[in-house]
Amino acid sequence: MATNLSRRHFLGSAAAAGTAGFLTSVSLPASAIPCGAPTKFDETVDTIVIGAGGGGLAAAVAAAQHGVKNIVILEKMPFYGGNTQISGGGFNSVDPVRQGRQKIKDSPELHAKNTLNGGDNIADPALVKRMTENSYAAITWLQDMGMKFKDDVYQIYGGLYPRCHAPFGSLGSDYIKVLIPQTKKYGIEIRLKSRVCRLFREGNLEGKVIGLEYVDAEGKHKTMKATRCIVVATGGFGANPEMRSRYDPRFKNLTTTNLPCSTGDLIPISEDIGADVTGMDFIQCNPGCPPGRTHRVIMHLYAANFIMVGPDAKRFVAEDSRRDVIRDAILALPKQTGFSIVDERGFEALNPGHQAGAKKGLQTGDAWTANTIEELAKKMGLDPKALRATIDEFNAGVDAKKDKMGKAPRNLTKIERAPFWACYAGMSVHHTMGGLRINTKSQVIDRYNKPIEGLYAVGEVTGGIHGTNRLGGNAICDIFSNGRLTGIIISKL
Ligand SMILES: Cc1cc2nc3c(=O)[nH]c(=O)nc-3n(C[C@H](O)[C@H](O)[C@H](O)COP(=O)(O)OP(=O)(O)OC[C@H]3O[C@@H](n4cnc5c(N)ncnc54)[C@H](O)[C@@H]3O)c2cc1C
Repeated sequence: MATNLSRRHFLGSAAAAGTAGFLTSVSLPASAIPCGAPTKFDETVDTIVIGAGGGGLAAAVAAAQHGVKNIVILEKMPFYGGNTQISGGGFNSVDPVRQGRQKIKDSPELHAKNTLNGGDNIADPALVKRMTENSYAAITWLQDMGMKFKDDVYQIYGGLYPRCHAPFGSLGSDYIKVLIPQTKKYGIEIRLKSRVCRLFREGNLEGKVIGLEYVDAEGKHKTMKATRCIVVATGGFGANPEMRSRYDPRFKNLTTTNLPCSTGDLIPISEDIGADVTGMDFIQCNPGCPPGRTHRVIMHLYAANFIMVGPDAKRFVAEDSRRDVIRDAILALPKQTGFSIVDERGFEALNPGHQAGAKKGLQTGDAWTANTIEELAKKMGLDPKALRATIDEFNAGVDAKKDKMGKAPRNLTKIERAPFWACYAGMSVHHTMGGLRINTKSQVIDRYNKPIEGLYAVGEVTGGIHGTNRLGGNAICDIFSNGRLTGIIISKL
């Protein structure tokens, strides 16, 4: 049976022992070797995928479609889908059909260039190239399984280019609804309430990853061996205030858009067996609840449809800027909170879920609506004359195709049709760009720059794909482009 010791526990005890010479004077019994694998596992399967979000489901399904049998997905929550299912589902990809129809010029190279530039050229160009070259294959793969996207692509908030695909239902749950029947078709078992707490290698910080330990639905510790490999697809750490503020203290008290499952468990667990991490301090925030509030209203998804103002009723940033630019601009406002404003046209473009959220916000005091800008300003607690002047100036800029704040002409749409809507735009931790270092074969890389045999990773748990700042729409692109590819790669082992 597995021991509950890990390398971190061991080092922690050693550090606590300090000058008592714990490390040199005490020899550990064999059963307590920190990375030691059990001699006998409770169960043996072919492949274990950790995490039943979009990335994990895509990898498992693609692997099964390419002949891998006996795949088990371990998922710690009592439900599958992860953050993927609550996401807006916006998926950046070149698309000869839709973009061709809309006369938008694009290419995988341009998508890669935008991705690299948008993240300050810190990302690994090879990983970016792999993602952008394979995104359209992932779109068609999903469509072949029944996924429906809207007819037109658009520029998502922080996406910097019109190549974002909206699921027909405008939510990430559409992907999960398509992938779950495939898991059933191929006999992939999803074991819920199964939290992975440890990985095992053949040797101490060396050799193949051969299995793991997890806590099952009854709270019992179980071990499982994987004869082929383990794929880590456990998402980010946006819902772990301690972990995120270790890398950037500004984020400790912010709210998060993530589900509580996004605690980054497999990052330290993989580090325990030698894995390297990259980009851990690159953390994205999106407009959401200001600290202390609980209901998030979303009006900012379509870059062309909204403007933002601060408490002085003045705009403070081009609303189609990079997400980190907007984050820093909002965090610099008094009370770190601004407002998003749309008109009737912008409101109608929101998906039904976001419209319902806005209507609920009218009750909770997180959103406001009115037939005139002045009335809206009063409800928001802003100076009506100042907001009127801001809207007039913005609309004049739309006519002139020249925006004072520098919003691109293609994203200029007047705020002119009543009723007008507004909501808070505080900052919520949204996405963590850093994580396990991988190569273009999805193998996790160790601290000596070598791939760890038997250990693969995909999705938000990985680092190196987005650089300092993730483009809106590129996370869904990552999990499905790279999830599908990872499944194909491991099928060839
Ligand atoms: C509200 C919201 C809207 C978003 N909208 C967009 C968008 O429109 N476009 C876009 O590109 N990106 C968007 N994102 C980001 C994107 O959704 C995520 O980055 C992406 O879905 C992550 O997918 P994943 O498979 O890596 O992780 P997830 O989908 O989060 O899945 C990870 C799974 O692993 C499980 N897990 C974690 N730890 C363990 C453990 N120890 N043992 C077992 N299981 C574990 C979790 O419970 C979870 O089910 C959005 C995110 C949010 C929160």
